[in-house]
Amino acid sequence: MNFHILTLFPEMVINGLDTSIIGRAMEKGCLSIEAVNIRDYTTNKHKKVDDYPYGGGAGMLMQAQPVYDAYRAVIEKIKDIAKKPRVIYVTPQGATFNQTMAKEFAKEEELLFLCGHYEGIDERVLEEIVTDYVSIGDYVLTGGELPAMVMIDTISRLVPGVLNNEESAETESFAGDLLEYPQYSRPEEWNGKKVPEVILSGHHANIAEWRLEQSIERTKERRPDLYAKYLEKHLQ
Ligand code: SAM
Repeated sequence: MNFHILTLFPEMVINGLDTSIIGRAMEKGCLSIEAVNIRDYTTNKHKKVDDYPYGGGAGMLMQAQPVYDAYRAVIEKIKDIAKKPRVIYVTPQGATFNQTMAKEFAKEEELLFLCGHYEGIDERVLEEIVTDYVSIGDYVLTGGELPAMVMIDTISRLVPGVLNNEESAETESFAGDLLEYPQYSRPEEWNGKKVPEVILSGHHANIAEWRLEQSIERTKERRPDLYAKYLEKHLQ
């Protein structure tokens, strides 16, 4: 999987994604992450990439030309792939990102992320290149870099070979409309609290049953919306 991030702050996304599990996955060759500096593509002699919005209003807007030329440069590099890559504009105006979307995006070979800044981006270039409008939630950040990093981190974990134990993505929260069960590590007793007996029993069927019960209880309590979905599916 190859990620291409169109941004005004390439060092921010690269430094943020270059560590731990994602960093190791890049070293292993399971993924690559390229940050393309939109400013490198401006034809403005002062390297400007933004201007006032027509009609007035607060703030500045990223202009169409540098964004489009940065996009074209990436497309030119990957032109050998069978279909045009998806281009995700991270925006508070998009559909809210979730695990199901992440799974869907993880099937792609190439993914482009477009990060806005200031008041956003000239609508005309969005109409020209964007295939998906995706948000990380109903709040407004200063730029698209953090949202792109959140999405790339989530999608990367679903790319084969990125996690050492592929099972861990399968049993995690949201994998089956339930939150994950509670987990414990050494020591068996800490601060007067003991690890539940069943976990120490070595009886796999009992452990699985206990974990499912815990997942159901936890989801019911913390995410009633998700629990309702689970019930709907499992009572059919
Ligand atoms: N004026 C825009 C609006 O009202 O929809 C908000 C612009 S915001 C200050 C600047 C950039 O941050 C956006 O272009 C987008 O790329 C990014 N951004 C801000 N909040 C976001 C969110 N919740 N999800 C994804 N991207 C977001």
